[in-house]
Amino acid sequence: MFELKVVTHFAAAHQLKMVGEKCENLHGHNWKIEVCVGGNTLNNAGILVDFGELKSHVKEIMATLDHKFLNELDMFHDNPPSSEIIARYIARELQEKITYPEVSVTRVTAWESENACATYQFS
Ligand SMILES: [Zn+2]
Repeated sequence: MFELKVVTHFAAAHQLKMVGEKCENLHGHNWKIEVCVGGNTLNNAGILVDFGELKSHVKEIMATLDHKFLNELDMFHDNPPSSEIIARYIARELQEKITYPEVSVTRVTAWESENACATYQFS
């Protein structure tokens, strides 16, 4: 399988209940997001999917998160905006935007600090 990775960032605020004092207070992160898509079939140009196209999908998804108070967004209404849930949201949104049946999102990693991240994989 071939796998492509795109790295991007967004900045936002969130508040998580019941995970310890620090996270219960309103605070922000500069999330680093790694998005991976995979597939076995390359096109005639020898590529899986055009990076430009992939980046533009990712950019659209980042625009729904960047500079927002995540707890107030519809997609986090029933699920707290933890790094885990953010990664899953991005993975699902991106999968919907990818129109090639042979290309799928393999995993999304959300880094909330330099040394802490959560990954969502479709299994
Ligand atoms: Zn946090």
